[in-house]
Amino acid sequence: MDAYDCIVVGLGGHGSSTLAQLAKRKLKVLGIERFSGTHQNGSSHGRSRIIRQAYFEDPKYVPLLARSFELWRDLQSEVESIEVSNEKLLTMTGGIMIGYPESTVISGTLKSVRTHNLPHEILSASEIRSRYPVFQVDDREIGIYETEAGYLIPELCIESYYKIAKLNNATLHFEEIVTDYEIFSEDLVKVTTNKGTYLTKKLVLSVGAWAPEMFGKKIENILQLDCSRRVLFWFEPNDKNDVFMNIPIYIWDLINEGNFYGFPTQPGNPGGNKVAYHFMNKDISDKCTPETVNKEVSQSEIDSMRKLLDKRMPNLNGKLVATSTCMYTNTPDQHFLLDFLPDSNGNIILASPCSGHGFKFCSVVGEILSDLVQNSFTSHDISFFRLQRQSETRVLIEGGGDMPAQAGELFYQWATVTVKGVEHRNIVVIPWASEQTNEECMNNFKLWGSHLFNEETSSLVCAPNQLQMVTDIKYVKLFIKQLLNATAIFFHGGDQVKIIEVLIKWPGLRELIQSRYQSGLPFAGTSAGAAIMSVTMITGEGDFEVIEPDKVETKFGLGFVSNAIIDQHFVKRKRTNRLLSVLMYSNRNEPYGIGIDEDMAISLINGRKAKVLGGPNGKVLLFERQDKCEFKLKVLGSGDEFELIRDQ
Ligand SMILES: Cc1cc2nc3c(=O)[nH]c(=O)nc-3n(C[C@H](O)[C@H](O)[C@H](O)COP(=O)(O)OP(=O)(O)OC[C@H]3O[C@@H](n4cnc5c(N)ncnc54)[C@H](O)[C@@H]3O)c2cc1C
Repeated sequence: MDAYDCIVVGLGGHGSSTLAQLAKRKLKVLGIERFSGTHQNGSSHGRSRIIRQAYFEDPKYVPLLARSFELWRDLQSEVESIEVSNEKLLTMTGGIMIGYPESTVISGTLKSVRTHNLPHEILSASEIRSRYPVFQVDDREIGIYETEAGYLIPELCIESYYKIAKLNNATLHFEEIVTDYEIFSEDLVKVTTNKGTYLTKKLVLSVGAWAPEMFGKKIENILQLDCSRRVLFWFEPNDKNDVFMNIPIYIWDLINEGNFYGFPTQPGNPGGNKVAYHFMNKDISDKCTPETVNKEVSQSEIDSMRKLLDKRMPNLNGKLVATSTCMYTNTPDQHFLLDFLPDSNGNIILASPCSGHGFKFCSVVGEILSDLVQNSFTSHDISFFRLQRQSETRVLIEGGGDMPAQAGELFYQWATVTVKGVEHRNIVVIPWASEQTNEECMNNFKLWGSHLFNEETSSLVCAPNQLQMVTDIKYVKLFIKQLLNATAIFFHGGDQVKIIEVLIKWPGLRELIQSRYQSGLPFAGTSAGAAIMSVTMITGEGDFEVIEPDKVETKFGLGFVSNAIIDQHFVKRKRTNRLLSVLMYSNRNEPYGIGIDEDMAISLINGRKAKVLGGPNGKVLLFERQDKCEFKLKVLGSGDEFELIRDQ
């Protein structure tokens, strides 16, 4: 049986985009869909989906949205180049977010606007009333308007992706249901359907509301998925005016009563204006599965929506022209899930980009999933979409010499993951020390934690060496798999410049490591492995007998610590001159310099909360910038805590 490069299961919004983008990258791909094309049974129907940029959900989505808009516009042009159509995939209408200043929608939108300097207008209640009389706002409510917003027609987008996929030689199987999938070998996955079996190198599961049944059980100890029903309504205005033709898309936060959203009048079927609740109103949202979802819309649900319209948009409370139901697939934090299935050798990719706000991202998610299929990493920041998305980042930075006992214990504690009540650790040691063999590096590491290390519940994995990493892509792929399966990563010492050179030789590898760090994977590094932790990395080259500009060479490090420059072997090797030279003349103006002596370490949570770990005589020196040539110095010992509160 010939293997596919990738099989995409579920050809809704995200699957169709992924299939098309993989096919354009010339991969041999198969898409499998249980229904006969676009349909009303999942999450991508109803003729409209809001797209906007000032994202109240989190500013981290904004760069993804910028790329999404770009890719939707590319898709529109691509489709127009192959056929004439009267309908556009994307209609720009502008968008208004309405609510009290303290509401999630308003405060979150402002956060995104300010973080990314997005064009916007803040409208008072009276300005909203005069510009858009259809909205009956309270005096204390405000609006935030942006032009970069509108709606997509989901059915048309999906059909466009089907066309592009077929044009680029993808195989599409409709009315076929995937019933099982399993690891067949280290490099292959076997997919079983009601019509046959297939082998594939990579498998993408983008099955929407079927995700809980398709892979929910396999990840339930890490992240829980559930499904809920939503109701959509299309109303005509009660006085037949056309004022609704030109309103922007809107989302209105009613705080305790949930939030609702709607669209301007959309030409074609079913007519009228779509309006729906997004979250929280108990009357019209229930837990369900694709099998149990109630597709009938009850009179009480209609009454509830009419009551809301009567109060907030009385002009829209006219004839009800249509209703429909749809399903959200939710994660607990409402951020998407895009990651590899654990223990699948990085060959099975899970995609649940929904929680009721995923359609606008289909274009960029297709790009991200294609990156993961092709290279196992993407340069987009998807750290908050990973399965393990600890809210905390954790790094242990050791000054060289022996790992202090408390630091070793903390690292083992961080590396411990409990699955089904059983603890395990999978620690990857990166043995890129210049003078030591892999075995010596591994033995050093074991010595530090031998009293904790239990082979039944812990595995210590040695990453490929530097030479293998720079000469053979096979080892890079192995390294990526190790990174994806790791519960913690330890950078041995070596030469910091060479470590970074290995990582940047392969596009995206440094970004993959950064993304794993951002999603909570604990890292530790000693000696050169400590130097790489900051953005500004001291390379070890220069004149260290003076404190002067340009005498100490620096390069970009891994960047886990953005507001401090780290130096190691600090007291023992008398490194104050070199750290001060860099601190005083750094273009980045880092507010802190941290000199960590041998046999000492600091733990750093979220890049801010630090604690000194080590023996009674060891020291960590903290320099805090007051002015260009003025620094406050603290000499810290074991147990001392400090915060790096100032940003760069
Ligand atoms: C009412 C509603 C309003 C929304 N509004 C917005 C909005 O305004 N803006 C926005 O950005 N997002 C919005 N969303 C969210 C957005 O629509 C979803 O995030 C998106 O449609 C999810 O796409 P998907 O590809 O994951 O799922 P789907 O498009 O449902 O695709 C999953 C596909 O997998 C197929 N499948 C499942 N199991 C199998 C199997 N075993 N074998 C073969 N095929 C299988 C299904 O048939 C289905 O076609 C809304 C969602 C709903 C429900």
